[in-house]
Amino acid sequence: MIKEELFIEAKKTFAEKYGQPHTIASFAPGRVEIIGNHTDYNEGFVVSSAINYGIFFLLAPNGLDHSRVFCGRTQEHATFQMANLDLGLDGGGWAKYIYGSIVELLKGSDGVLPEIDAMILGDIPLGSGLSSSAALEVATAFAVAKLGNISKTNLEFAKIAQAAEHTYAGVMCGLLDQLSSIYGKENQLIMTDFRSIEVENLPLGDDASFIVCNTKVKHALVDGEYNERRESCEKAAEFFKEKLGDRISTLRDVTSAELEQYAGEMDPIAAKRAAHVIGECERVLAGKKYLDEGKIEKFGQLMYESHDSSINNFENSCPELDFVVEASKSIPGVMGARLSGGGFGGSAVLLVHPRNAQTIGKALANAYENEMGTDCEIYYVKAFSGATVL
Ligand code: ADP
Ligand code: MG
Repeated sequence: MIKEELFIEAKKTFAEKYGQPHTIASFAPGRVEIIGNHTDYNEGFVVSSAINYGIFFLLAPNGLDHSRVFCGRTQEHATFQMANLDLGLDGGGWAKYIYGSIVELLKGSDGVLPEIDAMILGDIPLGSGLSSSAALEVATAFAVAKLGNISKTNLEFAKIAQAAEHTYAGVMCGLLDQLSSIYGKENQLIMTDFRSIEVENLPLGDDASFIVCNTKVKHALVDGEYNERRESCEKAAEFFKEKLGDRISTLRDVTSAELEQYAGEMDPIAAKRAAHVIGECERVLAGKKYLDEGKIEKFGQLMYESHDSSINNFENSCPELDFVVEASKSIPGVMGARLSGGGFGGSAVLLVHPRNAQTIGKALANAYENEMGTDCEIYYVKAFSGATVL
């Protein structure tokens, strides 16, 4: 399943720009976090979904002494040399993700790839929490690997894309975004175990889809808050290691019964942070069971519980996100809602029946504007297939 219209536009633009058709094309989707909040760095579980917004990467060898890349969105060009990647990149922000992915992909390989003409065209809203950057990295790595006949596992591709983001965009992201872009399947969610980095698909079916509501707010001090949360989680894990021994290495190893037993002895803040992470891990496992049984409304209920825990335990929500989740409860057809991603602003995700999605989206947008006096962005999201070479 690909986005035919966007692909046709990309092919046409490529041919016009470079005077020849492309020879290799790839597609990679964005992603949304569905449940399992702040669990990744606690070696826990996350459920995510690849989405029906993505990016195409087209290329063809050009016979020149340098490679050229064109960005359909900004109409900008960038250049570099496959033969001399260490000479760096001549180009802007978006091109760093491409150049970085190619450098990381080719690390340790001795052959030189031909110089190429390439272009990107995507429809993922940038910076809305749908991970356009990971999609760009993954699409690049897939297409250029095809060009060089380089075979990599999915996990290797995800790590290449992540390394590009770390080194060339300066964002120290985890692996969720890249894994989700690669492992997506139509009408299926993605469950990742962040200890073993094992990934499996979970059935969602075609009678459930999502609405992403981007509040566009970003509350100050997010980095400081984020660091505090990580430290509290580590502190809590240390506490349980002392109490329960070496079978505990992170909060993933602690059960909610154990937390209940010892919470009174803990630093109250650390206990609350632990309650969120432990609860989220358990909710992911419960959610997997519900999806396997086709109990989609039960799954939605877990999303509401997840958000309550963000409010009360992890304290990573904000009034705007709380409004969206609360408002969603009185809109018919919404099965669940929660904040998605780091929190302190950004997006909420709603689980809905596809037939109601447009009505729900409009009702939510109106309610948000009436209450907040500013608008939010609404995206209609389906569980989509992952990155491919076309
Ligand atoms: P997010 O990944 O949440 O969308 P980021 O700030 O991590 O936000 O990445 C956004 C950046 O990725 C953009 O500023 C741009 O440089 C690059 N990018 C992603 N998709 C595209 C695209 N289709 N066209 C141009 N640049 C893109
Ligand atoms: Mg990003």
